Amino acid sequence: MKVIKEKYAQLIAAQNDPKRSSWAGVNSVTGAGLTSDAVNLILAEAIAARTSDIHIEPFQDMMRIRFRVDGILYEVLNVPHAHNVNIVARIKVLCNLPTDAIASRKPMDGRFSAKIGKDEFDFRVATFPTLLGEKIAIRVLSKKHGQVNLNGIGMNPEDLSKLERIIGCDNGLLIVCGPTGSGKTTTLYSVLNYLHSPRLNIVTLEDPVEYQIYGINQCDIRKKGDESFASGLKAVLRQDPDVILIGEVRDLETAEIAIRASITGHLVMTSIHANSALGTVVRLVNMGLERYMVSYAVIGAVAQRLVPQLCEKCRSPYSIETSTLRALCEQFDLDLNLFLPAAQTAVREGKMREVGQAYAEAIAASTATFYKKNGCEHCNGTGYMGRVGIFEVIMFSEELRDAIVRGVSLTDLEEIARKKGNRSLAMDAIEKAKLGLVTIDDIYPILLEKG
Ligand SMILES: [Zn+2]
Repeated sequence: MKVIKEKYAQLIAAQNDPKRSSWAGVNSVTGAGLTSDAVNLILAEAIAARTSDIHIEPFQDMMRIRFRVDGILYEVLNVPHAHNVNIVARIKVLCNLPTDAIASRKPMDGRFSAKIGKDEFDFRVATFPTLLGEKIAIRVLSKKHGQVNLNGIGMNPEDLSKLERIIGCDNGLLIVCGPTGSGKTTTLYSVLNYLHSPRLNIVTLEDPVEYQIYGINQCDIRKKGDESFASGLKAVLRQDPDVILIGEVRDLETAEIAIRASITGHLVMTSIHANSALGTVVRLVNMGLERYMVSYAVIGAVAQRLVPQLCEKCRSPYSIETSTLRALCEQFDLDLNLFLPAAQTAVREGKMREVGQAYAEAIAASTATFYKKNGCEHCNGTGYMGRVGIFEVIMFSEELRDAIVRGVSLTDLEEIARKKGNRSLAMDAIEKAKLGLVTIDDIYPILLEKG
């Protein structure tokens, strides 16, 4: 990412070359000359750095360019404010968006495609007027992302086989949950790719369609004006679908139609805002659905988080002096958890007893070697290379269904699932830390979550 500064300086130097047009002379509408070179440079460097989002932000004295890589924002370049207008205009031209002053007072959405290196990329652009000018956020969508397959998402073999059994059902509802940017779409797309076959009619309703998948009927709900997921879903059901993907269930009406579809011979998949896999059930009930309907329809739930993945080339192992800690614990009758900062807070707040235990067990185990990040040429000095999903996969058993109908608490539902050998998000996170995929620091937030 350091290279971009040097290359940009070269572009500026070229400004003094009489053979080329200067910044001042650049035609902002056609984007000719240096502006177009600058935008190309930003896009190419973003791709080279594995950027997911590019931010172009105006400030008083300069314009800042930041790249989000593996979930973390890095400042990569500051350029004179005067260049901002041209760069913003060039990007808007690429998206066929109006560049006049009046239009620029409103936020706008656009999209363009470009071939960078060997690969084709889609760039989803959103403009946002600020006091100092327009800010632009660009989501980088690699066509390759839409082709991700199920065993490439980082699920451990046990969870993967559970998920395969769930999506092997002819009907029922599969729910994926997690915060924004936790990889829900990637998981759902990988399931679609897995199911994709000429024998099945797969229809999606998305907001927006992120990646196009060959052979699947994708509908972008945003392009339909005032169409909602609910009305779109009614239309989808008239298309004789086998598998339906609904981008997200946000309201009771959509939830009701989705549930009904899933119990009348369709495999329905969706995402919902909830923290844990079983929390999805509670969320549906809180939306106003009957418990017996939920218990009957939901066949599986996946909770997930995304964590930066350690660069294999430069990560280094370290071990925690557990023997010393354990001796102290025994002597003073203390919990080993108390010596671990994350667990300490959690214990103080009375949260996640089980998680703390699992964490302590992992550390106490003889193989408790963890890894830390360093940084090398391969990973652009960040110490990370991509991100890895942390998962919790629940297949709904008879016992769980009964408990849902009886209306037992979330804690009790989780207890039932745990007895069945269900691995929580925290357990999956610890396992991945032990495998050297992630650092303990990066999974703290997951360990601190309840359940
Ligand atoms: Zn590295």
